[in-house]
Amino acid sequence: GNETTKYNRVMLKISGEALMGDQGFGLHPPTVERIAKEVQTVHEMGVEICMVIGGGNIFRGLSGSAQGMERTTADYMGMLATVMNALAMQSALEGLGIHTRVISAITMNEVAEPYIRRRAVRHLEKKRICIFAAGTGNPYFTTDTAATLRASEMACEAIFKGTKVDGVYDKDPAKHNDATRYDTITYDEVLAQHLGVMDASAIALARENSLPIVVFSLDDEGGFRGILDGSGTSTTVRD
Ligand code: UDP
Repeated sequence: GNETTKYNRVMLKISGEALMGDQGFGLHPPTVERIAKEVQTVHEMGVEICMVIGGGNIFRGLSGSAQGMERTTADYMGMLATVMNALAMQSALEGLGIHTRVISAITMNEVAEPYIRRRAVRHLEKKRICIFAAGTGNPYFTTDTAATLRASEMACEAIFKGTKVDGVYDKDPAKHNDATRYDTITYDEVLAQHLGVMDASAIALARENSLPIVVFSLDDEGGFRGILDGSGTSTTVRD
């Protein structure tokens, strides 16, 4: 039990682009640190935290293959990009005095732990933040699917998808000032309306495992903690 939140164990999914700041590419260490501090506020609540970070700030398999690269090779490059982002986040979190593990779906023992489910669970029980890297380890998947898979394996109570917007809207709130935010929406509605919360395979996997997806803004200071203690705004995708 936890006094300030109903959650004991959560998955935080962020895109690689969240780490690039205003640069348009790559890693912006002050931005990584800002997000690490958001994670710290939730860690201090005693919540067990899993993280998956995308790789789109460095490399996306689809863009590589669109330019003539072989798709699976391009996807492996994308997975390696997520390892770099995971290491950057680990460095920022450890700088704040938080114990972390980077756990890679592709073995590279000098850099990260291999993924062993029971071992990862043990880390979480010891309040170490587990950053799951290299996606699912398979081409043709995304880190949204990886986050859903690991969240299911780790028995997380929800996936928190940190974005630039504080939830899911009926139309783009950046373009329409009459856009309205949903408090909750079903997996099927997200799929049918192509709302772009996560890709379809990730949504389908979350639906199968009844794993709620909470969409919130990571741009607002205190945003992550606010969602967990119930004071902030978000949209929950569930049945
Ligand atoms: N990727 C993959 N398998 C996975 C996860 C990721 O092949 O299980 C590759 C894929 O090429 C993808 C890239 O890694 O484009 C980066 O991940 P993603 O696009 O999900 O990152 P994000 O958009 O969240 O930054």
